[in-house]
Amino acid sequence: MRDGGDKLDSSLARQMKQSFEGLDEAADRARFSRQLRLAEIGEAGQRRISQSRIVLVGCGALGSHAAAALARAGVRGLRIIDRDLVEMSNLPRQVLFDEADALEGVPKAVAAAAALRHIDSRITVEAIVADLNRANAEALLGDCDVMIDGCDNYETRYLLNDVAVKLNIPWVYGGCIGVEGRSMLIVPDRSPCLRCVFPEPPPPGSEGTCETVGILGTAAAVIANCQATAALRWIVDGDDASAGEFVAIDIWRNEFRVNNMTHLRREDCPCCATRSFDFLDGRRGSGAAELCGRDAIQILAPRGESLDLAKLHDNLAGLGPLKRTAYFVRADIDGFELSVFPDGRAIIRGTTDPAVARSLYAKYVGH
Ligand SMILES: [Zn+2]
Repeated sequence: MRDGGDKLDSSLARQMKQSFEGLDEAADRARFSRQLRLAEIGEAGQRRISQSRIVLVGCGALGSHAAAALARAGVRGLRIIDRDLVEMSNLPRQVLFDEADALEGVPKAVAAAAALRHIDSRITVEAIVADLNRANAEALLGDCDVMIDGCDNYETRYLLNDVAVKLNIPWVYGGCIGVEGRSMLIVPDRSPCLRCVFPEPPPPGSEGTCETVGILGTAAAVIANCQATAALRWIVDGDDASAGEFVAIDIWRNEFRVNNMTHLRREDCPCCATRSFDFLDGRRGSGAAELCGRDAIQILAPRGESLDLAKLHDNLAGLGPLKRTAYFVRADIDGFELSVFPDGRAIIRGTTDPAVARSLYAKYVGH
């Protein structure tokens, strides 16, 4: 385990070189024999898969399913970035964790790495227990071949898009809530980026979160496997045919749709056209600051955002004691007190750790 703020002292590629000896071993030929027989993969493709480096940003429902699929397919270089601890309520859908992890409160990245090493003892997997932010994003993402979006908030997702476009790294967008999910491969310079399709993140609190709406694990499993497959296709032969194809599912009603978004690439996209990396450079995005001596953190929403207090009140109903005035919504959840204001600002009492506060904001307010 390494702290995410540290400079990368040993790259994933260098670590992998020590463990990877190619596909010539009989054990690997037997292990991957069914994939070697696939016309889509074959020996050259399997060798590329084995030598690839993939970063998972977030290891919740999407990240854990995608990581498991990639490790089983033979990816031998994985980095998992997640700031949260395993909880019992994760187990219905977060496939790499078990009751012991939840009882001990093991960091998700650490528990996932241990589970992946049981799947493949030759894997090089780095567990980064950190909140991805603009200070560490380029160092943590810059040396990979593909990034998988398992984010629980839009701010991190837009930061990921900035890094992907700036450093020219493909990534696979993914989102899942309720019984629905969606995914899309984004290849900078070849397909629309996230900001071409969705120029702005939704306002804070405008969409539900997994905590407020709920989520079905099978929907996450399908979307995560779409993401993992898009990553494998890219690695095997640089196949970007699916880039810009927006997959949307409703797993409960057997609805599967693919919308081609390639025409949405914008000449005036602030990110991929004018290369203004607003989330990476800090012109956009929330701040988190400790409120001195108050056992509380203030989360600032992006400038100009507004939040519907009535909707937030409805979203949080049933999760704990709740109070709404004309000026704020206050909720007591899991031993924390969240006070959320109409400008999207929140004061989270009960912690002095900005990462904990950002996690609570992402879970219960949503952005
Ligand atoms: Zn763009």
